[in-house]
Amino acid sequence: MDATEFRRRGKEMVDLIADYLENIEQRTVYPDVEPGYLRSLIPEEAPEEPDTYEDVVKDIERVIMPGVTHWHSPYFYAYFPTANSFPAMLADMLSGAIGCIGFSWGTASEATLVALLAARCRAVRMILASDPQRPETGITSKLVAYSSDQAHCSVERAGMIAGVRMKKIPTEQSDKYAVQGETLRRMIQEDKAAGLIPFYFCATLGTTPSCAFDHITELGPICNAEKIWMHIDAAYAGSSFICPEFRPLLNGIEFADSFNFNAHKWLLVNFDCSTMWVKKRSDLIGHWQIPLGRRFRSLKMWFVFRMYGLKGLQDYIRKHVELAKEFESLVRADQRFEISADVVLGLVCFRLKGSNEVNETLLKRINNGRKIHLVPCLLSGQFVLRFALCARTTESRHIREAWQLITQLAEEVMQELPH
Ligand code: PLP
Repeated sequence: MDATEFRRRGKEMVDLIADYLENIEQRTVYPDVEPGYLRSLIPEEAPEEPDTYEDVVKDIERVIMPGVTHWHSPYFYAYFPTANSFPAMLADMLSGAIGCIGFSWGTASEATLVALLAARCRAVRMILASDPQRPETGITSKLVAYSSDQAHCSVERAGMIAGVRMKKIPTEQSDKYAVQGETLRRMIQEDKAAGLIPFYFCATLGTTPSCAFDHITELGPICNAEKIWMHIDAAYAGSSFICPEFRPLLNGIEFADSFNFNAHKWLLVNFDCSTMWVKKRSDLIGHWQIPLGRRFRSLKMWFVFRMYGLKGLQDYIRKHVELAKEFESLVRADQRFEISADVVLGLVCFRLKGSNEVNETLLKRINNGRKIHLVPCLLSGQFVLRFALCARTTESRHIREAWQLITQLAEEVMQELPH
């Protein structure tokens, strides 16, 4: 493909993308194929001679789309949002074209790991400073890190990769699934008494299951006093802090050693674009990130920030929160259902009053219908449905349509099963 053809195909691709996104709600949000469906649709080997561009484009609908989950459909309410906006897509093209190598952006999972590695170095350095004869391996085998039992699985994985003990701090429904200062303090004391060295705590602002907020105003001073590195994972909720009304959720940030949020979740910058702050850069140098090379992701942020403006971005966040509140009030108005966790941002955790079985069946029916897509979570042993506001284009009518579908299926399930 030369530059002349690229101009032509590029324009066609822009049309294809715009058509795809404009008409996305007419597609089935969740695919109806089994793993391996591609095998019969594609040849066993790469073509000996080049295919034409037209052939490739034709196969998008025939081969690719049947297996796609449409994360940007207004009927997608699963996981958390993965951002998408026209300015970010344009900038992604330019970023690909410039193709330069940057050095300091990673995903939330990498931020957690990188902070943990830096904390491990810092802990070893501090101990060696006061006890230079102590063997380093003897120190690392005693290190202990902490996170909430609600933390994302990437936190546990960071502990495994770094080869350190990672203890989960229990949370309670009565504390809104947030880690309490007292619980952390007690675990630290017990571990120190057992000869362990507490060195890292990963707090979450906006947990994946229920969007809970750990009490960093309480936890931060404990970590600081114990010289424990406090990393804050605000992968989802972090974007909301651009709105002054959600800023109080960030109170206590001054105690943190590092902080991360994903612009690619909820700030209209398409995947991947994660940002990380560290209090003291020198603690991190040498561990900036795992790969050396990075593509030019900040360009997407720059396009999005300039073309939406702070006001446009705030409107977008607020709209999702309002839609979540709207969905919450629909749930609350129906006596058969209950809300399972406070609705703070764009996530509503809800369930049918009754057994886990009845809720599992309901979710299965919802997803098998393929009109909307949701994923579950477990809260205090209860099977809960998560309704996450995800797509940029979701409107009130989609929410009402989704609720109508959910209640209709709930009616069927409740007639069939004891609850
Ligand atoms: N942390 C939290 C709280 C999350 O909700 C998620 C993803 O949903 C992650 C981390 C992982 O993010 P990433 O895919 O950027 O590693």
